[in-house]
Amino acid sequence: MIIQLQQGIPAELLEVILQEVKGIGFKANEVKTQDAHYIVGIGKKDFDIRTLGQLPGVADIHRVSDEYKLISRKWRVNPTLIDLGDGVVIGEGNFSIMAGPCSIESERQIELVVEHLKANNVKIMRGGVFKPRSSPYAFRGMGLEGLRMFHQLCSQNGIKIITEVMQVSQIEDMMDFVDVFQVGARNSQNFNLLDALGEAQKPVLLKRGISGTLEELLQAAEYIFSNGNEKIMLCERGIRSYESAYRNVLDLNAVPVLKAKTHLPVIVDPSHGIGLRDHVEPMSLAAVMAGADGVIYETHQKPEEAFSDGQQTVNFQESERLIKRMRQAYALRESF
Ligand code: PEP
Ligand code: MN
Repeated sequence: MIIQLQQGIPAELLEVILQEVKGIGFKANEVKTQDAHYIVGIGKKDFDIRTLGQLPGVADIHRVSDEYKLISRKWRVNPTLIDLGDGVVIGEGNFSIMAGPCSIESERQIELVVEHLKANNVKIMRGGVFKPRSSPYAFRGMGLEGLRMFHQLCSQNGIKIITEVMQVSQIEDMMDFVDVFQVGARNSQNFNLLDALGEAQKPVLLKRGISGTLEELLQAAEYIFSNGNEKIMLCERGIRSYESAYRNVLDLNAVPVLKAKTHLPVIVDPSHGIGLRDHVEPMSLAAVMAGADGVIYETHQKPEEAFSDGQQTVNFQESERLIKRMRQAYALRESF
């Protein structure tokens, strides 16, 4: 059960509601986000919801049988919109394109990508400065120095930044330089990181784990929300299977299913999903038609020279065509 409390509810009224919730045998979890104040009641007993609903201080109440509660569509029917400022809004009714290199490599590279994005009216640039790599000897990112440069060039050009945070200790240092924190597939169930991002007042793009179920992804998102941050988007980026013809299996089934289960925006990453640059376009278009609220993909001025993930990175010419086609596909979808 979720109870949304009236804004600024007096402590005495809150206490009465908490006691009532406990009285019917439910565990009461108080959740305060940047937007609202809730009690998430956990329990199985049947009770008359009206008894609680009539208490002073209650703004809204719902039974939610899902394991995840606050991110459930059963609780909130209206889609979550994430406003990054300057007219950049992510969520239903918008189609967001986020593009950029796998890794931030140099000032020149950022300039070239920014120029490419601006020419195509793309407002969000991706790029990792802390890179999770399978080999400890591979390039692991430019770190904070790279992030500062990334931020400076993007903010001068009205471009928003999405970049991966790998551990709790990085959040504070990164805070002022990012618009969206990305939680990578390998950290999808790093619950300490999710808790900490719940306390950070910044949007989060949460990727599905390499072998994560949708239920696990949704529960991970619930960690962030229940720690105070409602600005979450989910990202399907492919799951591991026995198939070796491509890097991962981009599970586009996840898009309509997640959209039905949660009010959060759903973004698709076809670059990691298929891992082959020639096939990023069809999978991106398929993602649009499946109902994605946005696509995040890798592009680089010279993919064959990229420090990481070059095999799945499209060049600017391919990227331009991809952007045009995704917008066409989105317009078609909206016309249905
Ligand atoms: C990335 O976005 O470059 C990345 C490492 O993604 P994932 O966590 O999905 O592997
Ligand atoms: Mn990558």
